[in-house]
Amino acid sequence: MRLCDLNAVLRMDSLFLDPKNEDCLYKDKRKNTIMIGYNCKEPGPYCFCDSMGLENYHDLFFYDMGEFYYIDVGSERGMKLVSRLKDYDYKPPQIKCEKTLNKKLFLKHFKNPIWEKLSKNCLSCGRCNLLCPTCYCFTVEDKPDMTLTKGIRTREWDSCQFKDFTKVAGGFVFRDKRTERLKHRIYHKLLYYRQRFNKDMCVGCGKCIEHCPTKIDFVEAINKIK
Ligand code: SF4
Ligand code: SF4
Repeated sequence: MRLCDLNAVLRMDSLFLDPKNEDCLYKDKRKNTIMIGYNCKEPGPYCFCDSMGLENYHDLFFYDMGEFYYIDVGSERGMKLVSRLKDYDYKPPQIKCEKTLNKKLFLKHFKNPIWEKLSKNCLSCGRCNLLCPTCYCFTVEDKPDMTLTKGIRTREWDSCQFKDFTKVAGGFVFRDKRTERLKHRIYHKLLYYRQRFNKDMCVGCGKCIEHCPTKIDFVEAINKIK
């Protein structure tokens, strides 16, 4: 995994392994996962991960050195895997992205007309959610069988960009307008999650911008706020 994706797991862990609301299914999978990272020599044009305060969160992290790999060990579990290798002294380089996000400008601008403008071309397709490594919102479905005496309960990934995401009994929709939904996604990433876990939910991977069918770029919009 790349540094952004490893940090996305850290966001998931903070939420799903929170002792107050621990998710036993997530925990079960997570404890059997070894986190192996690989460095980005050249971040892509949509990446802005160096604006997002990412940290090391891996068991092993590989740096491609041409003839060999330098492996940074991040845990005892990782150490067990490489304990037979020789020590090597190396200071890994910092990632430098061309794209940056100026977060300070955005917090006071909930009512800024920029959000209306930004969402004008949004199709509410949900692609930005389904590609995002930190989007975790889900819905729960009960599927009874024909006898109505048994069935299965599934948890399915959902998208806050869909109109019925906030639909409640009685048919009321809390975020009826596209602008409200798009803005919610961005404020969840950069404010609401931070209020609980003291870090941004966005890891700066740029996937939601690169693969949005209408190329909606929230980073550019925030940077433009005066
Ligand atoms: S991918 Fe783009 S068009 Fe689709 S919901 Fe997200 S912002 Fe809107
Ligand atoms: S850049 Fe977009 S896809 Fe990547 S973590 Fe941030 S919100 Fe999610």
